[in-house]
Formats: sequence, structure tokens, C-alpha cells
Amino acid sequence: MSPAESDRRRRPPARPAPRLALDTPVTYLKGVGPARAELLARLGIKTAGDLLRHVPHRYEDATTITRLVQADVGLDITVLGKVIAKGVLPTRKGLRVFQAVIQDESGMLEIAWPGQPYLDRTIQKGDWLLCTGTVRFFHGRRLQPREYVNLGAEEEGTTEGGRVLAVYPSTEGLSVRLLRMLVQQYLDALLPLVTEPMPDSMLREAGVPPLRDALRMVHRPASVAEALEGRARLAFEELLCVQILHRRANQLARETRHGTAFENRRDLTTRLRASLPFTLTGAQARVIREIVADMCSQRRMHRLLQGDVGSGKTIVALFAALLAIENGAQVALLAPTELLAEQHARVIGALCAPLGVTPVLLTGRLGARERRLALTRLASHEPVLAVGTHALLQSDVAFARLGLAIIDEQHRFGVEQRAAISAKGDAPDVLLMSATPIPRSLALTLYGDLDVSMLDERPPGRQAITTVMRPESARGRVMEFLGAQLDEGRQAYVVYPLIETSEKVDLKAATVMFEELVAGPLSSRRVALLHGRMPAEQRDDTMRGFRDSAIDVLVATTVIEVGIDVGNATLMIVEHPERFGLSQLHQLRGRVGRGAAQSYCILLGDVGPDAAERLLLFTGTDDGFEIARADLMLRGMGDLFGAKQHGLPAFRIADPLRDEALNERARVIADRVLADDPELERPMHGPLRHLLAVGYARALELFRVG
Ligand code: ADP
Ligand code: MG
Repeated sequence: MSPAESDRRRRPPARPAPRLALDTPVTYLKGVGPARAELLARLGIKTAGDLLRHVPHRYEDATTITRLVQADVGLDITVLGKVIAKGVLPTRKGLRVFQAVIQDESGMLEIAWPGQPYLDRTIQKGDWLLCTGTVRFFHGRRLQPREYVNLGAEEEGTTEGGRVLAVYPSTEGLSVRLLRMLVQQYLDALLPLVTEPMPDSMLREAGVPPLRDALRMVHRPASVAEALEGRARLAFEELLCVQILHRRANQLARETRHGTAFENRRDLTTRLRASLPFTLTGAQARVIREIVADMCSQRRMHRLLQGDVGSGKTIVALFAALLAIENGAQVALLAPTELLAEQHARVIGALCAPLGVTPVLLTGRLGARERRLALTRLASHEPVLAVGTHALLQSDVAFARLGLAIIDEQHRFGVEQRAAISAKGDAPDVLLMSATPIPRSLALTLYGDLDVSMLDERPPGRQAITTVMRPESARGRVMEFLGAQLDEGRQAYVVYPLIETSEKVDLKAATVMFEELVAGPLSSRRVALLHGRMPAEQRDDTMRGFRDSAIDVLVATTVIEVGIDVGNATLMIVEHPERFGLSQLHQLRGRVGRGAAQSYCILLGDVGPDAAERLLLFTGTDDGFEIARADLMLRGMGDLFGAKQHGLPAFRIADPLRDEALNERARVIADRVLADDPELERPMHGPLRHLLAVGYARALELFRVG
């Protein structure tokens, strides 16, 4: 039985209409039968209140809609008109094109959908269409829509007289027009039922309108600006709820998850500070204080350390490790690659030699005997610093008294892996480190229960890396420059986005280019190839060769991106730079400029204007925070952090990135509210508490709900 049929058969036997309330099921609304109710449910609309919260995702008004008479060829525009003629036309190539002619008070325009003849069934004469696309010339002006919305046969489908047209998210079988009519029909009756969840003082502080006004503004705006103001209020409310839940979870975790309270003995840490070949930056000293305070409290540390490439996170981690060790506890430092683990073990080993602390390295490369030896030390009650890869996570690796787990390049690990390492101790303190810094409020939204420390200063005396774009025509000169650097005894990276030439994408893959370089400009040099499909062992051997200066030029894919430190490498050439994300390029660039010599990063090749603009942003700054932000804006979070771990709470209206300022306000207010009233027990916070309890399952665990 089709929904429409069931609608007809199950005509309600004259139900008594209840008084309208926010929780009235939509089936009681005029014009909504079981079939429509089902469609509405698909949009998450089950009650009258849900309908009120179903917010337009877009607005059109006279300033955004182009009159048809002005729809000139070449323009990318949005138009609105009534269908006065339509039909399906075959083309010579057999493709069937649905065409419609729309009309507004100024003129007419042809709209065409090639290959979509079925639209003939859904678009009717008399319907108003809102279409966005570019006007082309094809026997006259013709628009091929990127996007269109059928507003239905509505008399007042125009934006004349300054009207703003609200466009609602809809679903197949449910027109935007119907949704708009339903909302408009009930808006005046529903608004008085809305209660304000936020106290006045909070509204003032956040700078947003009261809920009732906001809902009127989004559904019946006098201008697009007003609609956005209303939207901001709704977004703020969502962000506030999520921040309150996260901060509350964090608070409870601190109170209830007792960790080890270390004692600041100032033994190993003080000796390390005295023996360092440099002085700590202000930011390092501050962050170390934050970490020491965490570790010396009864609460369990759960902290994210964000710092740009080269900001000196390793030393900070080492201070934390030594604090645990001088208290007799064990430490695990987890790194994503063997090379990086080895590097940490070597660097830390050298710095700690005067202190009598020798790190234990545990990677997949260890022989059976060495591995047994390492495992024995971890299982003993000796205070060891274990440095390792995923090998540390294996089930037979047991720590006698793991007090601190440090996870470097934490975005390389999944949630389970991060949990697995801390499960090896009895509620050990946890320090996560990340080189893709994001705004604090966003980090708190993303990583919820964590505390966040920022290493926002770089060690002094670091030379800026000269970064330039060079066209394909300059390849010869770039190769000469590479030769000159090598003649000075320097080393270089040449980086490619892919490893094999695909027929479709005509990119010069690392393997092919490697052979060309060896046969040509680099014939007299020691060149090696490094890519992700090589066996890990071979890859690490190659990297070691480069580190020990047995290799001059490393032709590589992005496997070199993570944390490797070769001071003598001064030049990086990136092929097809447009194929990389900005943060990835920044990580790559961080591989040079590690020594005292001037270093260079050359983006080589011809790129399109869009890519050039994006890359200019990269060549123009070496501030990782700025680059991460731009990258987030351009590519979204999933791309940057990988779907496996970004675990972003679902937002209906807010976008924590684009609404960064609102999110920051929400964080500040959430912190203050909870500091003041942790259980939200004050009468003034009652409605807010109710809002959380109704909207978020998690609120039930976090607040006593009564
Ligand atoms: P990242 O934050 O990228 O992990 P590292 O910890 O690898 O950075 O540090 C990069 C380099 O900076 C290392 O060679 C380290 O010895 C050096 N370094 C760290 N802190 C300082 C400092 N305060 N002064 C000078 N050099 C420092
Ligand atoms: Mg590092």
C-alpha cells in the first residue's frame, strides 16, 4: 500500500483535536496525515515543536535573486520564476533533456536538465522554481542548474516587496512550499508556547536574541540579516549545550577518576633543565607548569598539547616523563612510526644520559631476545621510560606501574589505540600531542573531555624557510639550485603526491620521476626512493641512510611527513603541490629548516588559479595555526583529522568552525556556569538543564535529573 493510499484509508475517525502544544504530534496538524507524517519524520519532525525547530538552511531575497531579464550569458546566478512551458527533448546523441521555461515579472529564461527526463513528472506548469547555475549560450540563453528547489504552485512565490524567501531542507515527496506553509500556518500559535532556556544575563553576554524572537526571525525574517541573527541564536544554544556537556564530563572525570598524585620533587626535572643546551621558551615553561599541576593533583591528567611543527613538544613530554620517573612510576611514549620512535629514544637518551635515565625502545624491529629483555624491564617495578610504536600496544606488553602515557602525533592513532595504551596502567595520566593546532574552543568541541595546552611560541633563532611557487618552465633552474645545495654538502627532499602513474590522472609519480632524475640531473648523486608501498623495513633503512648522510636526495611520497628531524636537509621540492592539503604541506615543510642553515621549500609545477590562491596562503605564512584554520575552512574537519577519530558531535545548525566566535563565547559561558553551579541546580538554570535532558542522552549520566 502506498503512503498516499494508507493516508486515505486510515482517515482518522474524528479524533478530538488536543490543544496545540510543542509536543503535539504532527499528525494532529491540519494537512498532515500518516503519509506526510512519515515524510516529516524523515526530516526529524515528529512534533509541532520539531517543526518550529526545523530551520531554513538558506534564504533568498531581492539582493540574491537575479531578475530574468538580467540573466546574461556567463553569469553564475540564482533565479526565481514560474514554469510556463516544459517538455522532454531528445538530442542527436540520444540524450534526453528536460526543459522548462520560467517567467518572472521581467522576462523569461530557458532551464535545461540534460539526462533527467524524469523531472517531467515532478515539475509542473505553474510551479515556481528557484534555480542556481551558470547561464550559457545555446540557441539563446539557457541555465543549467547546479541546484534547484521546486517551491510548488504558490501565488506569492516572488521576492517582490523585499520579501525574504526561506528555503527549508526538504525530502522527496515533501515540497519546500508545503513545509513553509505548515510552519507559517502554526508559527503564531506556537511561538507563545516557547519558553526561554537561557537567563537574561546569559543572553546579554552572548549577544544573541531570546529564543522566541530568534525563531520568528528564522521563519519569517524581514531581511536576510535578521534571519542570520536568529540563526546565530539557535547555533549558540547548540554550541552551549555541547560545551556544557563536555566541560561537565571533564569536571566529573577530574573528580571521580582519581589518578596518581605525583610529587614535584624537582630532582630529575631540575637537573634536566640545568643540563639542556638551550633555555626553554616561555610557552614551554608555561605548558610544563600546566602539566606538572595536573600530574601533582589527585585528578587524572587528560591533556592535549597542541604545538606547531618544531615548537619543541618533545622536551615538554620529557619533563612530564621525568616527573613520573622521579616518583618511581613508568612512562610510555607512543609514536606512529619506527623511525620517529627511534629518533625519540635517541634524542631523549642523549638528553637523559647525565641523569642516569636510559629509555627502553620497543618497536617491531627488535629481535626476540631484545624484546624479551625490554618486556622484562617493563614488567619489573623499575621506573622505566618506554619509547615505542604500536608494538607497545600488543597484549603481551605489560607495565608493572604505568603512571603516564604520552601519545605523539596523536591524530595518527585511533580512539581504541589511545584507550589501549592507558588501559596498560591503573588510570595513568595521559598527554596527547598534536602538530595540527586548531582553535582552543574547537579543540574542546572536538576532543570533548580534554584539557588543552598551547605551545604558541617557537624556539628563538629559527630561520624562516623561504617558500616559493615556481612554474613548470622553471624546472631546469630549480634543478640547478638543487645541485648547488648538494654541492654545499646539503641534503634535499623531492616530494610527490602519488607513487604510480595512473592513466587517468596524468601525474608524474615518484617511481617514474625517480628514474628520470637518476638518469638525468641527479646522475652523479646518491638518490633514494621512499614510498608507502615499500616494506616498512626497507623504508626505515632508507630513512636511516638519509639521516646518516649516506643519501643526498630522498625522492619520496608523504611517508616522510611525520616528525623526522634531519638537520642537514635544507631543500624541499614539492611536485604537484595542489594535490596536498595546506596542513600537510606545512608538516612536510617542517622537515627542513631544522638546522642552522637557510632552508627552502619550492612548490614546483603549473597550477590552476584556485590552487594558486590557496597555495599563496601557504607560501605567505609559516604560522601553523593560521594554516590549520585555512585548511579547516577549505576542506572540513573529516578531511583534516580523518573520520576515524574526529568524533564530532552532530550539530543541526551550528558549525563549530565557521561559528568559531560563537563557539568561543559558548565555551567561556559554559565554564563559568559550571564553575558557579556544577549541577545546574539553581532555579535560573532549570530551563537550561531541562533543555539538556531532553536533547542529549548524555546529559542523563552527567547531571542528576530529577
Ligand atoms: P615538535 O614540536 O615538532 O615535536 P621537537 O620537539 O622535535 O618539535 O623540537 C624541534 C627542535 O627544536 C629540536 O631539535 C629541539 O631540540 C629544538 N628545541 C626544542 N626546544 C627548544 C628551545 N627552547 N630552544 C631551542 N631549541 C629547542
Ligand atoms: Mg614532534
